[in-house]
Amino acid sequence: MKQIVLKAGRDKSLLRHHPWIFSGAIERASGDAEPGETVVIRSAEGRFLAYAAVSPRSQIRARVWSFEEREAIDARFMRSALERAVAFRSQVVGQDTDAYRLVHAECDALPGLVVDRYADTAVIQCSSAGADYWRETYADALIETGVCRRVYERSDTEPRNLEGLVPRSGALRGGEPPEGIAVTEGPARFLVDVRRGQKTGFFLDQRDNRARVRAAAHGREVLDVFSYTGGFVVAALTGGAAGVTAIDSSADAIERARENVAASGLEAHRVDWQRADAFARLRALHAEGRRFDLVVLDPPKFAPTERHVARAARAYKDINLWAFRLLRPGGTLFTFSCSGAIDAALFQSIVAGAALDAGVLGRIVARLGAAPDHPVALHFPEGGYLKGLVVKVA
Ligand code: SAH
Repeated sequence: MKQIVLKAGRDKSLLRHHPWIFSGAIERASGDAEPGETVVIRSAEGRFLAYAAVSPRSQIRARVWSFEEREAIDARFMRSALERAVAFRSQVVGQDTDAYRLVHAECDALPGLVVDRYADTAVIQCSSAGADYWRETYADALIETGVCRRVYERSDTEPRNLEGLVPRSGALRGGEPPEGIAVTEGPARFLVDVRRGQKTGFFLDQRDNRARVRAAAHGREVLDVFSYTGGFVVAALTGGAAGVTAIDSSADAIERARENVAASGLEAHRVDWQRADAFARLRALHAEGRRFDLVVLDPPKFAPTERHVARAARAYKDINLWAFRLLRPGGTLFTFSCSGAIDAALFQSIVAGAALDAGVLGRIVARLGAAPDHPVALHFPEGGYLKGLVVKVA
């Protein structure tokens, strides 16, 4: 097996079981490993550290499969890691849903691999050369576990470019999925378009937060900003909201959100759909004198990388500022950021700045993250990208 030898002292993160090996930490590599090939990682002193998949074009040059020297990195290894990930979900996901994440990449010891389940369809997303290398094995294993009868691939993520991999989507097992796969989440029904939807089709990570919005919505006037296919709209309506105003810039997303309201058997007239740019629309609502009891802000990732943090911080501040201005006294803001580059402390300080400028006293009553089918491995804090605050205003 080919080897990568690290520079002296650069084994520290691996000893803490962080699974990434950056190109700058590498002293030398024996032979040119193919993309996704398994190599041995050794310390400068020649000690075994890990087995890892090589990504020859990426700054993250290798990702660890195992820190156990006796392990064989083969199809059986991949199958059992996948089975463990699937078994974990039966412990943390309730019986009232058939849509959840089966594999959360590094946090399930399968770097670069995401698998989401939508009823009888599993959607697999390979973002690293290593995950890509084993994709047929994963597809077979998913069918074998019985958790699905169809596997669809959505390997069209941004990180693939950094890995030198071309985007790839399509049916892998069990034929083409229907355009809208019907899934259940408690009292709600959603139609998920796994071919064209964002991520693998739906924001599964917000499941528990949808339940929180549902619990808080009774009798409230709700504003859902960046509503996409209506996850929070449906949550608010099933919770008995008096009315919901939903803002999204995508006509297609709004169309699908309408379908989800209908699929859940809810009254469409209780929703005021506004296809608009959120930044402008929030100001306009304020100028029109509209006020709300509950506002949800779940924007797209404003900071895809560290370089975008300053600009993203201004964008988060802006929408939070206007959300605070639109809240009635005693109202509640659910505010989120899915930017990994903006950590929880920075996010909180941005929201604090927004409340200050809006002239409201805000108090955090809950700190939110992704649902437990998106666990964060303690040795991989990067896995905890989603953060949210529930803020009550005086
Ligand atoms: N809250 C959603 C997920 C949001 S995804 C959920 O729980 O499912 C981000 C959404 O923001 C997308 O639907 C996209 O169309 C929308 N969007 C992006 N930029 C926008 C803008 N400037 N104004 C309004 N909507 C925007």
